[in-house]
Amino acid sequence: MCPGHRPDSQRWWFQARTRDLFASAANANGDLYKVLSKIQSYSLDATIRGAAETGSPGSDGIVWGQAQYVVRFNAFATAFRANLNSGAVCGQARIGLANALHHEGRHAYQAYLTSQQSNDEDKDWAVDLIPIAPASIIEDSTRMRTVCDPNHDASPGVIGTLMPNWQFNGPTVFDPYYAPSPGQGMSWVWWALEMDAYTFAASPPR
Ligand SMILES: [Zn+2]
Repeated sequence: MCPGHRPDSQRWWFQARTRDLFASAANANGDLYKVLSKIQSYSLDATIRGAAETGSPGSDGIVWGQAQYVVRFNAFATAFRANLNSGAVCGQARIGLANALHHEGRHAYQAYLTSQQSNDEDKDWAVDLIPIAPASIIEDSTRMRTVCDPNHDASPGVIGTLMPNWQFNGPTVFDPYYAPSPGQGMSWVWWALEMDAYTFAASPPR
């Protein structure tokens, strides 16, 4: 690609597909629309490591307490263009651009929840009230739940590892986004956010 020349065909294709996906969400019962409405805007970026991302606190300018968030997509991703099954992550199916949009939209929604009154007192991104299912994976409590480490495969051909019996420190004691090193502590908020996003996107509300 020549520097300074926009990949216009990619942009047109992507724009048409995302417009359809947003339109179908608006016709649904409302919950999917509420989630997608937390995407402030999306940009196309062929340099991101994965096919889509919302970013992480501290590394991509993600700011706690905002009402909406920016999502980046790589419109060149083959799985998006051909609507391919990319394989389940932590047991949750992933097919095409719709799945990625719903996954990243859920990340935007998770982050939006920090902007709600007294919903994240310790500002660790695990929250007290999650109005749209799944309602308890990112809950800031000591209740046991299963989370997802997407970066380590449980076995060959099985993407991600389910981490059972996970719990957090509760609403007023800060939980780290990442643990100091893998296997240390029970405080990987990021793993809960991913389990929540993969679960939501595998069967979004209709
Ligand atoms: Zn994610």
